[in-house]
Amino acid sequence: MHYRRCGNSQCLRPFQINQFDSNVGVEVVRGYVICPHCGFRMAGDDPDALYQTHPMAPAQERHFNALKLTEGFE
Ligand SMILES: [Zn+2]
Repeated sequence: MHYRRCGNSQCLRPFQINQFDSNVGVEVVRGYVICPHCGFRMAGDDPDALYQTHPMAPAQERHFNALKLTEGFE
């Protein structure tokens, strides 16, 4: 799994990202990662990929914040 922190300075909350190469029937925007907390849109690493985002579990988000991570993998 891939995690990333929101680039919006008013938000900065981390969230989980799932990346797909083809359409999986979900409402997503190709090439962009959209924060599930505030809707802020950031460019993804792959402009052709589909990115689906989810809030992290509260304990997981606290752990991520405690480590002061901006991006992470698990
Ligand atoms: Zn955000």
